[in-house]
Amino acid sequence: MSKPIYKSDEEIELIRQNCLLVSKTLAHIAGHLKEGVLGADLDEMAETFIRDHGALPGFKGLYGCPSTLLISKNEVVVHGLPSDVPFQNGDIVSIDCGVYHNEFYGDAAYTFAIGEIDPDVMKLLVVTKDSLALGISQAKLDNRLGDVSHAIQHYTERVHGYSVVRDLVGHGLGRKLHEKPEVPNYGKRGRGIRLEEGLVIAIEPMINMGTKSVRQAKDGWTIYTKDKKPSAHFEHTIAVRKDGPDILSDHGIIEEVIDKNENLQKVSLKS
Ligand code: MG
Ligand code: MG
Repeated sequence: MSKPIYKSDEEIELIRQNCLLVSKTLAHIAGHLKEGVLGADLDEMAETFIRDHGALPGFKGLYGCPSTLLISKNEVVVHGLPSDVPFQNGDIVSIDCGVYHNEFYGDAAYTFAIGEIDPDVMKLLVVTKDSLALGISQAKLDNRLGDVSHAIQHYTERVHGYSVVRDLVGHGLGRKLHEKPEVPNYGKRGRGIRLEEGLVIAIEPMINMGTKSVRQAKDGWTIYTKDKKPSAHFEHTIAVRKDGPDILSDHGIIEEVIDKNENLQKVSLKS
């Protein structure tokens, strides 16, 4: 098994710029997201936005991926392809985006809530997003990777009764989109590699309301829940630093746009 590649401060700054562009792309998309819009149109918009900023889409062409965005609605966990099926009131839509620039990648994802969302589904979104924050809080020097994984699993499964997808995991990120180590959203405290300065990982809980079992569609990409119940997905790329986890992507700029878009519901239990 190859070892993780630790990044210098300069390399982390390049990855941060890329992750910020991913976040800005998702924010740009959030401004256009509403009932009736087509994923295929958002995909074109995202590619133009990224290229206009002097970068390249990170996913398109990688492993044969046909698109800039991966758009995963409702029972689709991840890796949904942009389509011509209009978004509907009540859809939850995970949008995952990567960019490549200056020889490094950036990666982040956010699940959006279109129109009136079933309160049980909104709770799934809130819990998944909170589990990402809990996982990140464990990504500190001298902790183990299993501490991150365990925090996510404990909160989503034990506390809330949801299930963690086992077949897909987060990942190291750098000159390649997917580097060592794998970052599972399940695991045991105190296990796995020790977290050292300069480790850059994408942490991305994929949490199902029902069974953890997933299936792949005939398109070879789309992963959906076996029981067709909803699934949520939030992703940040972070660096392990001396003074704690450094979140390189930014959900805040996405949420500023969500707050202004009356067609989207904030991921929150209060609204
Ligand atoms: Mg991603
Ligand atoms: Mg990722």
